[in-house]
Amino acid sequence: MQRVFVLDKNKMHLMPCHPARAKELLDKGKAAVFRRFPFTIILKEREGGDTQPVALKIDPGSSTTGLTVVADFPSGKQVIWAAELTHRGQAIRDALLRRSQQRRFRRQRQTRYRAARFNNRRRSAGWLPPSLKSRLDNIWTWGVRLARACPITSLSQELVRFDTQLMQDAEISGIEYQQGELQGYEVREYLLEKWGRKCAYCGVKDLPLEVEHIIPSTRGGSHRVSNLSLACHDCNKKKGTQTAAEFGYPEVQAKAKQPLKDAAAVNATRWALFERLKLTGLPVESGTGGRTKFNRFSQGYPKAHWIDAACVGESGGTVKLSATHRPLLIKATGRQSRQMTLPDQYGFPRTAAKISSTAYGFKTGDLVQAIVPKGKHASTHVGRVAIRKRPSFAPRGFDVHPKYLKRLHHSDGYSY
Ligand SMILES: [Zn+2]
Repeated sequence: MQRVFVLDKNKMHLMPCHPARAKELLDKGKAAVFRRFPFTIILKEREGGDTQPVALKIDPGSSTTGLTVVADFPSGKQVIWAAELTHRGQAIRDALLRRSQQRRFRRQRQTRYRAARFNNRRRSAGWLPPSLKSRLDNIWTWGVRLARACPITSLSQELVRFDTQLMQDAEISGIEYQQGELQGYEVREYLLEKWGRKCAYCGVKDLPLEVEHIIPSTRGGSHRVSNLSLACHDCNKKKGTQTAAEFGYPEVQAKAKQPLKDAAAVNATRWALFERLKLTGLPVESGTGGRTKFNRFSQGYPKAHWIDAACVGESGGTVKLSATHRPLLIKATGRQSRQMTLPDQYGFPRTAAKISSTAYGFKTGDLVQAIVPKGKHASTHVGRVAIRKRPSFAPRGFDVHPKYLKRLHHSDGYSY
């Protein structure tokens, strides 16, 4: 059950409470709704209170990031709030590509001379591509929001896919018999990455893959990762006691001998996030993807971004959660288009210049409640408001007078 965040009368965060308790407080008039997303109430009288350690755990993904708040109760670690945050990396990429194409086209038109601008700027240190930066900023925004709503005392983040140290230092003996062990997961995760998540021989995807020895152990092949590849069941069986070269795949043998890809083998976003999290001054725990998977399997949890987040790192080994827990689904939508006007196919303005999207204190994208007393649409409606030319307010495709509107949630660049 998703807990409700609680603030005291000075807006200081208290321990999140059970939704039934929050409802009781709201019904009795002892509290008011402070924020809808994440759902936060503010107490009218109480000041201060006891808190327990709370960890914010993050599993950053390329399209979706899992965010989980885990409380360290005396009875054990428990998930009290979770969310899955969908990024808009592709949308940003598309928009920037469109813009650059338009600019290039405009330069080529026989209008006036414009100096080329592709090579006259320098990137600042720590620059990230805009699509990656937006992911980082999304996670940061939500980290800050959660830190305002509950007493976060530590952070943990999945940093790398696998621990190359753990694999290279230790000679792996009989990996087949170690499936339940952490090391086995690290190796598996590494092999999946190295062999592109497909059979090294026939290239089949989406089938269960088996870890196999390129030079069979019966013929003196070692158990080191440099002698391991992934094969589908059929190929593994067909190969039998042959080496990969004998089986007709010398390139597999060659690829396996190549040194491990650069030690970290992770994307820049994760490291940038890690660096930023460290700036908060809170203790930051980092974990590998292999450990996350190991923790999830050993506790018998299904695959989900928020569950992965809960299982990150050493502290993810013993976390209580309910598989029926429904996380808050957050989608980054961006705030507005920066484009001032839409062009026609020749690049000339097709529409009027963009007008203001605020009126009477409302903004396009605000979540509002409209109580319409009379007329065709007399009823209570809840929806996002769109401010148009007049300005008119259209929560459900029809216009509503602003005096009937009540804002529930500010437009904040995310949909829920
Ligand atoms: Zn195969």
